[in-house]
Amino acid sequence: MTGMVNSVVADWFIGQPCKWNEELLRQFLYEFEVREIIKIPLCSIHEADTLAWAHTKNGIYTVKSGYHFIREQKRLEIGGGEASSNSDIWTKIWRTKLPPKILSFIWRACKGALPCGLNVQKRVSEADPTCQRCLKDNETETHALLGCPFALNLWGKGGMEEMVTEEGVVCSLVAWVERVLRCHRGEEACKCLVLLWASWNYRNAAYHGVLSTEPMLFVEKALSFWVAWKQVQPSEVSSRLVQQERVAWIPPRNGQWKLNVDAAVFGDAGCGLGMVVHDYQGKVERMGVQQVRDKWCPEVAEAMAAEFGLLTAKQMGLDNVVLESDCLTLITMLKSKSFPNNYFGRAGKKVLDLASSFSCICFNFTRRDGNVVAHELAHLVPLDFSTRYWVGSIPERVEPFVVVDSLAIPN
Ligand SMILES: [Zn+2]
Repeated sequence: MTGMVNSVVADWFIGQPCKWNEELLRQFLYEFEVREIIKIPLCSIHEADTLAWAHTKNGIYTVKSGYHFIREQKRLEIGGGEASSNSDIWTKIWRTKLPPKILSFIWRACKGALPCGLNVQKRVSEADPTCQRCLKDNETETHALLGCPFALNLWGKGGMEEMVTEEGVVCSLVAWVERVLRCHRGEEACKCLVLLWASWNYRNAAYHGVLSTEPMLFVEKALSFWVAWKQVQPSEVSSRLVQQERVAWIPPRNGQWKLNVDAAVFGDAGCGLGMVVHDYQGKVERMGVQQVRDKWCPEVAEAMAAEFGLLTAKQMGLDNVVLESDCLTLITMLKSKSFPNNYFGRAGKKVLDLASSFSCICFNFTRRDGNVVAHELAHLVPLDFSTRYWVGSIPERVEPFVVVDSLAIPN
């Protein structure tokens, strides 16, 4: 960053009439920042500087525009901070009917968060940004996924070479994904995004020394993963019949805290317990993970996750708490206060004991899609059998799910 510290804005212009020096900007800033900066039009005539308010057409501040600006900022803070003009595309991405794993990949790719050569070099300046497969170009996201001759080969094998025309390769990945979602019908757009994921897997295999020259393997693997996922999804018709809308996470009432908990059972390895506390505006207050070597059954693990969550809430000094879990038997047991005479019942009793030390607490069941953040935390890898908390930050893997939740919060 030293190059930036001593520079003035005019150093970032080139030519006459002047324009943004994109190449220079890209050396110091992230792609999404550069895209925002180059949207700012430059004026060719010399004019005295004036102060202007950017959020009205005439540049004059009004209370109404100030209010809208603050509301938008609040919404973006919760949503992970992206320009409002882009919020549509993020919503579209998350509404695409694809496995969460693939959506999360698309999200990271569009955010410039894939460890491709150029992104790595932005963090580690001595890293070589050259594509290690073709050695021809710097490895940007679009090069790795679309433009590299190896990627082109994969798209051809997948029967979608028309998606990686020159135009697609030179535009940004976000613009490319945006166009895919705009110009193609549901299934075709989905297949396209599945191939994008396959292209990344193919690239990674090469980088990890698995020198397979056969991209078809990766195409087939990705497509069959997608097909298998589709088969276990409720069909459009049946889901409309039972009106099973996607359940969203719902913020608690003003003054309450919502504590979502979930557990993951990793067979012989042990269990993961996840918890997240939100305030009534949907802001994440704390996230936590506890990984243990105990081999509990799923129900016991769910009760232990509730205990872990409540202990954390207690340490945080919270008093008015809604404990939410996607384990129906646990919530039913806590509400009815009838405990079976087994490990699960005993674990449940401990949860209720702890709960009774809060002055105000209630128990709530939600379907799994209303509990995605706690679910992801519980499944966080690698397993290092520790207890970890996040305050004011979010583990990268979980970030997309926090955004999914925030999209559901009414403004
Ligand atoms: Zn290449």
